[in-house]
Amino acid sequence: MEKVAIIRSQDYNEERLHRDVRVLLDLLGGVKEFVRPGQRVLLKVNLLMGKPPEAAVTTAPALVKVITRLVQEAGGRVIIGDSPGGPFTVKALKRAYEKSGLARVAAETGAELNYNTGQERVPFAGGRYNKSFVLGKFIREADVIINLPKLKTHGLTMFTGAVKNLFGAIPGLLKAEYHLKMPRIDLFSQMLIDLAFCVKPVLNIMDGIIGMEGEGPSGGSPREFGYLLASPSAVALDVVSALLLGITPLSKAPVIAAAGERGLLASTQLEIVGDKLIPYRDVKIPVIEQKSNLLDQKLPAPVSNLLDKFLRPKPVFNHQKCLGCGDCNRCCPAGVIKMAKGKPVVVLENCIRCFCCQELCQYQAVEIKRPLLGKLVFGNYYK
Ligand code: SF4
Ligand code: SF4
Repeated sequence: MEKVAIIRSQDYNEERLHRDVRVLLDLLGGVKEFVRPGQRVLLKVNLLMGKPPEAAVTTAPALVKVITRLVQEAGGRVIIGDSPGGPFTVKALKRAYEKSGLARVAAETGAELNYNTGQERVPFAGGRYNKSFVLGKFIREADVIINLPKLKTHGLTMFTGAVKNLFGAIPGLLKAEYHLKMPRIDLFSQMLIDLAFCVKPVLNIMDGIIGMEGEGPSGGSPREFGYLLASPSAVALDVVSALLLGITPLSKAPVIAAAGERGLLASTQLEIVGDKLIPYRDVKIPVIEQKSNLLDQKLPAPVSNLLDKFLRPKPVFNHQKCLGCGDCNRCCPAGVIKMAKGKPVVVLENCIRCFCCQELCQYQAVEIKRPLLGKLVFGNYYK
């Protein structure tokens, strides 16, 4: 039986939030169920990039602060960390901590901010598709990990839940290699599940108070959902988060489909405790085309190429908004973005549709566009 706690929580007022998080965790036995005195506790936040809290890209600093206090009360020593998109450097981390409000959280609570950008290969015999991972040392150094995802839509994985948030355990640009090795969303999702089991957070707490809809995980619109969710199981938390977002059937979400495929959903039962979950029906959620790759496997190459051209979504660069920073060029796993006269140009034939360029662009200069035929076949980009 996998327990998921859920409560309504209306905003980031610290006093109220402290009360709400305590109630949430009490539903799971309290913070002391997960943290022992003296343990080094990593709060694995979502720090995709340095964005202010109101942009709803990163885990809300008020929530990180409240959880830091609770862990400290339980005797834990808190380290706040993530490997953001782009190069994993001390300079990039410093900027991201400042902009996201986490530097202030650390100053106010005495928590440590991670600046260890080292990495190491970790064997993982239990992985189904990945028998080892290269992880950031900050992950390995923690006695206990508490995963703090932000409830956001995502152009590749439909939404970013607890499982996807752990992709930040892979340091910096190495993430691109995983995209490249597993360009198919079903295999990429299986890799994410292996990774979640390898990183093994003891607790996952979803910041679902204000999340994101539309062009997530960085270019969408903030959306008030008004919920906090928590579970020791990242997969169970994602199932309930997908329910909340109104994703039906749940298997449309690639990570949940991957969990179902390996029998994780059939073999466990969910116990939802706390407030009543009322699913949203109007959240702008990207439609994910899991079918196009299946078509690729069955059809002759010319037909498949045609389908590719007329059905699949593609990244489109808005040169008016683009500031020519080159982040997309440096982070493209397939190396298909070239800079021409200071602006990115993509060779779509070899694009693996990972949408890292859209995810990482600080200036919302990359849009995911779907050809007209694709819209007719698969529906609008948003459900
Ligand atoms: S599209 Fe965005 S990430 Fe790429 S160069 Fe322009 S501003 Fe930078
Ligand atoms: S162009 Fe964008 S979507 Fe295509 S492979 Fe590069 S980062 Fe991924």
